[in-house]
Amino acid sequence: MCYRVECKQCKEYSRGGCGEHLATLYASIDKGKHCMCKSWPGVVVPTEETATEQTPSGGVSTSATTTTVTQKS
Ligand SMILES: [Zn+2]
Ligand SMILES: [Zn+2]
Repeated sequence: MCYRVECKQCKEYSRGGCGEHLATLYASIDKGKHCMCKSWPGVVVPTEETATEQTPSGGVSTSATTTTVTQKS
């Protein structure tokens, strides 16, 4: 499994580990915190940070698995 490491050059998060889970690792790092000193193979990296994405304020969304029980009356 891959893990994040702090880049000595840019002080952002770089990658370590086997290199096969870069997409997952990349997604787990906050936007703009990615080290770009090294490439991220297999990860679609936007060339410019001018993407106007609407990021909901509230952090990481946890996918809660809610089991809805349908009750018959
Ligand atoms: Zn890995
Ligand atoms: Zn770096």
